[in-house]
Amino acid sequence: MAAVGFIGLGRMGRPMASNLCRKGFELIVHDVNPEPVRALAALGARPAAGVNEVASGSDIVLTMLPNSSIVEEVVAGGGGVLATARPGTLVVDMSTIDPLVTDRLAAAAAARRCSFADAPVGRLASHADRGESLFMVGASDADFARAKPLFEAMGTTIHHCGGVGSGMRTKLVNNYLAIVSCQMNAEALALCQRFGLSLERTLEVIHGTTATNGQLRIAWPAKVLKDDTTPGFTIDLAHKDLTLIVEAANAARVPLAVGAVAREAFSTARSRGYGSQDFSAMVDALCDAAGIAKPRL
Ligand code: NAD
Repeated sequence: MAAVGFIGLGRMGRPMASNLCRKGFELIVHDVNPEPVRALAALGARPAAGVNEVASGSDIVLTMLPNSSIVEEVVAGGGGVLATARPGTLVVDMSTIDPLVTDRLAAAAAARRCSFADAPVGRLASHADRGESLFMVGASDADFARAKPLFEAMGTTIHHCGGVGSGMRTKLVNNYLAIVSCQMNAEALALCQRFGLSLERTLEVIHGTTATNGQLRIAWPAKVLKDDTTPGFTIDLAHKDLTLIVEAANAARVPLAVGAVAREAFSTARSRGYGSQDFSAMVDALCDAAGIAKPRL
């Protein structure tokens, strides 16, 4: 079995690495925060002294890190994975980052005779806990086949989207729709509240027409509409992703007029202290700003 390195054991990486451990993979782990490293060691993973030790001891290195600049530093920086990885090592980045950085990392890996794949993760952190994540993979056929057993140990749905970079671009398209829908839902329900309508009856009407969507039908009735705004997926992360999306679209000369406005709605919610709440709390942020009672079922 391949030796697997795992760098970045945060809200997503820790349960994903734990699932790999539980399913018998030989894991070498690293995080700048020692606490989750200790937790993984208790499950049988080998703690590494740093990125170098992960890279030199692994056949496949997985990264699950916060943002583009950290991924670029950890993978291609001076003391990064590619500096010490053996030729033939496969690096799989599962973070959500700028796809142009993904392209640069793939080129840097090729220059070191290593392989690179992008496999951003869909669904929520609670799905990662249960090993029910969805992966959008950009990889050659050979690299996809090599990494597939790892995705199967961490998730239930695996899409091979195309060559390197296609997973990240698919993730941005998906999150564009999900995050903009969230803002639209927030505005619609604020209007419902201001009009003094019955929330239950209005939702019944919406679910009977093409206006309905998964967040309003499934996610919100169990979250913000039941007064639960613990994340899930935070407003801060949604803002980060929408920023990536608008910038990537601008670089590709695709105007995202609605996306740019929605991004600033998320900026406003963050400036009012909502950043760490679940993104369904966008409706609370809007209702608070407009002096409207929050919608609750
Ligand atoms: P997180 O901030 O909880 O975890 C990131 C981890 O990386 C932390 O443990 C941190 O200590 C570690 N880290 C930071 N710099 C490091 C370095 N230089 N070397 C080693 N470790 C380092 O973030 P998260 O919620 O786990 O998200 C990770 C990625 O997954 C992000 O790109 C995010 O957008 C994406 N994502 C998150 C969710 C979610 O619901 N949380 C869902 C899908 C995708």
